[in-house]
Amino acid sequence: MRFNEVLSGLKNYEAGKPIELVVREYGINPKDIIKLASNENPRGCSPKVLEAIKDEVKNASLYPDDSMYELKDGLAKRFNVKSSEVIVGAGSDQVIEFALKAKANPKQGIVMAGITFAMYEVYGMQTGAKIYKTKSQTHNLKELEELLKENKNEIGVLFLCIPNNPLGECLDKEDVFEFIEKVDKDILIVVDGAYQEYAKFKDPKKEISPKELIEKFENTLYLGTFSKAYGLGGMRCGYGIGSEKIIKALHKLRPPFNITTLSLRAGIEALKDEDFVQNAIKENFSEMKRYEKTAKELGFDFIPSYTNFITLNFPEDKNASKIAQIMLEQGIIIRDLSAYGMNAVRVTIGTPEQNTRFFETFTRAYC
Ligand SMILES: *Cc1c(COP(=O)(O)O)cnc(C)c1O
Repeated sequence: MRFNEVLSGLKNYEAGKPIELVVREYGINPKDIIKLASNENPRGCSPKVLEAIKDEVKNASLYPDDSMYELKDGLAKRFNVKSSEVIVGAGSDQVIEFALKAKANPKQGIVMAGITFAMYEVYGMQTGAKIYKTKSQTHNLKELEELLKENKNEIGVLFLCIPNNPLGECLDKEDVFEFIEKVDKDILIVVDGAYQEYAKFKDPKKEISPKELIEKFENTLYLGTFSKAYGLGGMRCGYGIGSEKIIKALHKLRPPFNITTLSLRAGIEALKDEDFVQNAIKENFSEMKRYEKTAKELGFDFIPSYTNFITLNFPEDKNASKIAQIMLEQGIIIRDLSAYGMNAVRVTIGTPEQNTRFFETFTRAYC
């Protein structure tokens, strides 16, 4: 059977290894496995959200409210925008997909940083669009500007991942706004704020207010998610915020009931427990200092991170894949970044206990 041409160039997204796989392949007890590979919140989600999900299970036979009135209303209030400026997706992943389907095609390509969130390219390729990446691995606004200039009239979508996954670096809001000002108004600029909660806690200069963004620039779409700071990766709930015009266009691509009855309730409740989120973020950054200290002690580099993970760059005489494999066999799942051409690993910051175990195992694996 012959499939559509675009599929031949497509790779599967390689997700962080699940706990089940480590149990199967290495025979390790699930309770001894630590997953620091997918940037989930190691503290889980708010206990209030968990209660709400349990309570909602009785409605599993019912389709969710497809208008998503309450969740959109909660998000609109949180960000001081209108409900009509919000769209909800099965993770912000799905909103990325909508944005690309709406605006990318074989004649309108996609621009992004050299190393950034893999799904931009995966969904991008599905539209048949050309992918343009900067030479620099991290976000370099000058290079992004040059790419846009060199390929004038051939770009449909530009991605800015602020802070960036998988490297953790973060542009300053002021620089971002100055840059966007210069971009052609027909290019859809997607500002992916999956880790914004972390970034703004660490440094207020990094905070991008969706309201200010979309009011200043009609061609922008802000993305947020409940998967990271809110600890709800398994619920698949994310959102986009943009002008009514953009959101209306994206809604044409949204399948009905695209998030579950449980996910919807989880998102609604999660917005009500900000204390949980702030405490988790506070602990994240105090624990991150232990990783920075270990890097200095063992003599390797790291990228200063504005997220819930840290990218550790190893010298040539150490092998990132090998280290990741040794860790895996000890039940600690981290992300090997070799596929990106880096001799580096990405580690999600765990709970204090998980991190202690990480350091013990890692020190042995590294030396
Ligand atoms: C995790 C992540 C997302 C989306 O996650 P969902 O679970 O689909 O909401 C989007 N962008 C970046 C950069 C991420 O790291």
